[in-house]
Amino acid sequence: MGFAVKFWGVGGSIACPSPRHVGFGGNTSCLEVIAGDTHIVPDAGTGIRSLGHEFLRQDVRSAHLLLTHSHWDHINGFPFFGPAFEKNRHFQIRAGHLSDAGGVRAVFAGQMATPTFPVPLEAMSGQLEFEDFVAGEQFELAPGVRVKTAPLNHPSGATGYRIEYGGKSLCYVTDTEHVVGQPDQSVLGLIEGADLVVYDSTYTDEEFGRRVGWGHSTWQEGVRLSRQANVKRLALFHHDPDHEDPQMEEIEQQAKAMWDGAFASRETMLIQLD
Ligand SMILES: [Zn+2]
Ligand SMILES: [Zn+2]
Repeated sequence: MGFAVKFWGVGGSIACPSPRHVGFGGNTSCLEVIAGDTHIVPDAGTGIRSLGHEFLRQDVRSAHLLLTHSHWDHINGFPFFGPAFEKNRHFQIRAGHLSDAGGVRAVFAGQMATPTFPVPLEAMSGQLEFEDFVAGEQFELAPGVRVKTAPLNHPSGATGYRIEYGGKSLCYVTDTEHVVGQPDQSVLGLIEGADLVVYDSTYTDEEFGRRVGWGHSTWQEGVRLSRQANVKRLALFHHDPDHEDPQMEEIEQQAKAMWDGAFASRETMLIQLD
């Protein structure tokens, strides 16, 4: 299958299934990255429910979940991830911001605990392996599948990822807030020369001033960083639920006009990287 990424959820903050969001999709953050025989799942927002159906159809038995962080919109699809309830399935779940905060397993158990959820984590019969690391570390998921990470500027921390396979690279950089006029050196280092960068484009530059401290960035900053770091393509991601289809179309047109490497990610979009 080579190296490819599929978008299962492109929204931020809260799922927004509505007739005004069908063009881009209303599920929250979840990607599927296929690198040879290795399946990688960056984030477990509500988009992971449909990915679970696909995994069952294709009989995918193992995958690596890489979490940017544990805000609801990035983890609350996991209790509805069907394959995790099946025996003989193996999922490794990693996070880079919780080693000093109780660990990722406790967060996953907590979101499935009474009185806010009926089915406990222990009801999942699949083999779940939780692993905490510190953002900035690097690791190899399988021979030839390298992952580099970097800390992002987000309340309670978040981790940016760079996945390399077969000489190509994909970066996943959400959620992160920039400082106006000061390009984030940590992000620039992570995305340098990447073939595709998926970037937190929650706001426009015009909206950003009223949202400082909320932990997000703008599509314009995504373009500025991508150009500076010689990135080939930029996928706007983590769409604001208040940006309905017509506004998203407009944002995408403006982004393409500013830099032709930019486009807005849409649910079920598949991009081949090799
Ligand atoms: Zn988010
Ligand atoms: Zn967040």
